[in-house]
Amino acid sequence: MNELTDIKNIRDILSRHGFTFSKALGQNFLVNPSVCPRIAELGNAKKGFGIIEIGTGIGVLTSELAKRADKVTAVEIDTRLMPILAETLAGYDNVHIVNADVMKTDLAEIIRTDLAGLETAVCANLPYYITSPVIMRLLESRLPIRSITVMVQKEAGVRLCAMPATRECGAVTYAVRYYAEPEMLFKVSRGSFMPPPNVDSCVIRLNIREKPPFELGNEEQYFRVVRGAFSQRRKTAANSISSALGIEKSDVISAIEKSGAEASARPEQLTPGQFADISQLLMKGNAL
Ligand code: SAM
Repeated sequence: MNELTDIKNIRDILSRHGFTFSKALGQNFLVNPSVCPRIAELGNAKKGFGIIEIGTGIGVLTSELAKRADKVTAVEIDTRLMPILAETLAGYDNVHIVNADVMKTDLAEIIRTDLAGLETAVCANLPYYITSPVIMRLLESRLPIRSITVMVQKEAGVRLCAMPATRECGAVTYAVRYYAEPEMLFKVSRGSFMPPPNVDSCVIRLNIREKPPFELGNEEQYFRVVRGAFSQRRKTAANSISSALGIEKSDVISAIEKSGAEASARPEQLTPGQFADISQLLMKGNAL
C-alpha cells in the first residue's frame, strides 16, 4: 500500500510542515489507496511513456505514476508543498516537480525537453475550480499526447463525456469530441478525499484523436459560435449567439434555419455539423 494514503501518516507529514489545506486551490487530497494505482494504470503510465501530472498535492498519484512510467513531470502551484514533496518523493529519481501555475506553463516545451524521446500522456486529480480551462488548454494547444486521464467532479465528467446535441452537453462537450474520444472510467466517492469535497467525483479518459472527425473551415470561429450559443443556457441559441458575438439576430436565425435547425433551437439541440454550417454561413455573410 502507498503510505501516502495512510491518514495517520498524511496528518503527521502535514503537521510537521505546518501545512493547511487551501480551498481556493482545490486541495482535496486522495486517501483511498485503490484510486491512484487505477488512474496510473488506465492513464498510460507505463514503460516508454513520460507523464505530465497537474497538481501533486503531497505526491500520492505522482509516486504511482513514477513507479510505472519512465519519467514524470508534475506542475504544482503551491510553493508550501515543495518541502513536503522533497520528502515524500525522495525515493524517485524520475520525477521533476515544476513549481508553477499550469495555466501559465509551456507544456509543449516540457514535452520537447523533459520528456524528449518518450510518448506522453497527462494524468491528474484536477483542482476542480479550473477543470474546463485546463482541459481546453490541453486540447487546444494540440500537445503531442496520447491521452488525458483526469479525476473531475461527477457533473463535469458527465458533461465532458456527453454526446453533442444531448441534454447533458455544454460548450466543452463539442471541443472534447472534436479533439478526443472521451470515456467515463470509474466513479470515486467523496469519502476518498481529505478533506472530503461536497460532491462525488469520477475519472475520465480523453483519448486524443490523430485527426479531427470532420473538417472545419475555421476552428476558431466555430468554437466562438459554440461558446456564444452556450453563454446563456436558458435562452435560444439565436439569442445567445446574437448577444454574445454582437451579431444581428435576424442574421443568426437565417444561418440557424439554413443549417436545418429550428429558429428556436436551444444550443444543446444543435449538432456539431449544424454549428459548423452556422459559423460558415455567418462568416460568409461577414457577420463573424
Ligand atoms: N494529486 C493530489 C491528490 O490526488 O491527492 C492533489 C490533488 S488536489 C485535487 C489539486 C492539486 O492541484 C493541489 O495540490 C493544488 O495545490 C494544485 N493546483 C491548484 N491550482 C493549480 C494550478 N493552477 N496549477 C498547478 N497546480 C494547481
